[in-house]
Amino acid sequence: MTFGPVFLGGEIFRGSSYGSWHPLRVPRVSTVMDLARALGWLSAANYQAAPCAKPSVLSAFHDPDYLAALQRAEAEQDLPEADRAQYQLGTSSNPIFPEVYRRPATAAGGTLLATELIRDGGMAYSPAGGTHHGLPDRANGFCYLNDPVLGMLSLRQLGVRRIAYVDIDAHHPDGVAFAFTDDPEVLQISVHEERRWPFTGALDEVGVGNLYNLPVPRGFNDSEMALALERVIGPLVEGFRPDAVVLQCGADAVEEDPLSRLALSNNAHWAVVSALRPVAPRYLVLGGGGYNPWAVGRLWTGVWGTLLGAEIPERLPAEAEAVLRAVNWSGHSRARDPAEALFTTLRDAPRPGPVRDVVRERIAVLEGRFASAWV
Ligand SMILES: [Zn+2]
Repeated sequence: MTFGPVFLGGEIFRGSSYGSWHPLRVPRVSTVMDLARALGWLSAANYQAAPCAKPSVLSAFHDPDYLAALQRAEAEQDLPEADRAQYQLGTSSNPIFPEVYRRPATAAGGTLLATELIRDGGMAYSPAGGTHHGLPDRANGFCYLNDPVLGMLSLRQLGVRRIAYVDIDAHHPDGVAFAFTDDPEVLQISVHEERRWPFTGALDEVGVGNLYNLPVPRGFNDSEMALALERVIGPLVEGFRPDAVVLQCGADAVEEDPLSRLALSNNAHWAVVSALRPVAPRYLVLGGGGYNPWAVGRLWTGVWGTLLGAEIPERLPAEAEAVLRAVNWSGHSRARDPAEALFTTLRDAPRPGPVRDVVRERIAVLEGRFASAWV
């Protein structure tokens, strides 16, 4: 039994990059670690370094041939053309970079260690995790491994049966859906931008009855997310009576993100983190997408603060502000003239708005489905 939430991090996330043109050229987890330390939220008591997972462990979900190719890609910094095509390695989305095995294997190692730490109850946070597109036999959408799937399989091994998986990344978690579509003891809920890659996750997909997709239109705002939380996410997860909740908290659904067209503030994510905290005896929170380094650093630090039950300061102390000002980002229009608040605060101004009919109608469809499922 752990006594408070545990943070799984690592220095490999500070020094590695997917390459100078890739959206993941920016630091993310290291910014969260530095901000959390500057705020007094991280110490030897609640921080653990994520271990690098071995292929024998990763093969719980991934094909040994693919894992061998990933290790070979790291060792040789190259792969034959046929392997590149088969495993989708060395593409513009999934480049071969110096830590191409060790970095995702450390993210997965963090998520796997997190599941062991909460085996008998507790909370853990693996912000390097949440790589929800990874497939058994190939890389997919910046994800070389699928740590949410590995983590859920590990929970199963540890005797945890009913798992509620909630995903609020801007993209649909196709890799997780692939793994658990036929599993009646995994509830899957995803809120994601409609008509965006990977183009899966339709409203009418039901799996074996435990799959709930809420595709949302451009400009999705805090008021709309609040309704989704109140009417769908909250009641569904509570009604499922899970033994564990796994939340993928991708930070690419905020207004500042360069890869999506949604318009949330980080308050929306923190509200979900907070609402799901008391629902099950075990709570695992993961990272995910997020490509504006200031926005993702602030959002994920606030997730940690929310798990700790800490007060979010109105203005950041100088040391924390310096962390954000030291992060460089260029090569995107949203990198130009960043708002001053991105450096001086953690909490965004709320972004409420009208709840559009299309959002209301889709929420009603999902509500209708679970009302008939569990009563
Ligand atoms: Zn995403």
